[in-house]
Amino acid sequence: MFYIIINSAIIYYNTFTMEQEHKTDCMIRAINIVRECGGYTDDHEYMKIYSLMGAYLKKHCQHEWVKDTIDIREDYSRIIFYCQKCYTTES
Ligand SMILES: [Zn+2]
Repeated sequence: MFYIIINSAIIYYNTFTMEQEHKTDCMIRAINIVRECGGYTDDHEYMKIYSLMGAYLKKHCQHEWVKDTIDIREDYSRIIFYCQKCYTTES
């Protein structure tokens, strides 16, 4: 009985994780489409949706952080960390 309860809990956990992973993957595809449409910074509603999608990914993505350097000027660069799955950045 104890084994079954543990086993059920594990199955429930895996189902939840897979569902969340699927939702996150869908959101990554969706935000990439929104990014392709360009930066409509003058469209308040569009930018609000884009911002909400980014916040969702920041919270739910199982981030895979990558360290990178970006050149700010010719003589100055900065280290950043970005998620290679959803491109969320952390500085
Ligand atoms: Zn991520």
